Amino acid sequence: MSKYPFKITQRYAVYKAFDGICPWCKEPVDFIASHIDHVLPEVLLDDSAKLEDLKKEFGLNDSFNINDYENWAPLHSYCNLEKNKKVYKGAGFVRKILEKCEKNKKSAQLIEIRLNQQPEKAKLLAQVQDAIQSNLLNIYELQKFALKPEIMDSNDDELNNIKNELNGKVAYQNKKMLHDLLRMMKNQTREFFHAMMKEMGADWAFSMSGDAKTVDGVEVKTLKYGLVNQVDKRFDTTFIHVEPRFSNKQFIIDLKAKGQILETVICDIEKGVDWSVYRDALRKHHKAALQQILKTIND
Ligand SMILES: [Zn+2]
Repeated sequence: MSKYPFKITQRYAVYKAFDGICPWCKEPVDFIASHIDHVLPEVLLDDSAKLEDLKKEFGLNDSFNINDYENWAPLHSYCNLEKNKKVYKGAGFVRKILEKCEKNKKSAQLIEIRLNQQPEKAKLLAQVQDAIQSNLLNIYELQKFALKPEIMDSNDDELNNIKNELNGKVAYQNKKMLHDLLRMMKNQTREFFHAMMKEMGADWAFSMSGDAKTVDGVEVKTLKYGLVNQVDKRFDTTFIHVEPRFSNKQFIIDLKAKGQILETVICDIEKGVDWSVYRDALRKHHKAALQQILKTIND
């Protein structure tokens, strides 16, 4: 994994300067699927002796920079793996790629400069990058946008079309992702309570109800779970109320009882939701509420 925080404009400039061709296998590569490879690996930044040796071996000049266009190339991910195996021995291949980088450097720099002079286009590319990093679009859906080398050359109308299409896709994916999270939450909650009921035996049944509300344009079901004591019907108690919400790339679940928040479980959507944290919180409050109920029954 690259340590260098590439700007999307740089990624795009490298890709464009190579005409979308992977220099390792000479086949076209998708912008989104391509790896911007450090031809001489970044680890050499920590090993200056070895870097000097390689610079000599490949006939590179003193100003050679690991983190600049003379060392960046768009490779297929599988070609990248192949290349990494051979970088220290397959001098011929690597030399050819480095020569290509050097040759393309000027045009890549120009592309980056031009993009930076067109903030609307640079912004659009940044949106594309955001969408990828947040997993809002899969690479195949995104190819369409990113593969459009015309982004840079397009006129305002085309640019607007691309932008609208991208926003539409992101909004759709966003909505779908939220739906999926809500469904997962519902399943996790239901499974948890079923397991609890089993533990508690036949005297107890559980009840479930839901209210719908709209959060960020998505209908969110808030769930109420309760216990009904079959022997003594007085104890029909709704004791945990699960309220999901979304904020700032976080999926947040409030566990409430009688309108009071017992605990808030915060899940980082980008890292993936750790449902065990949610189940542990449910278990904790379920047990506490149950103790309270049993105490009332025994009194
Ligand atoms: Zn390739």
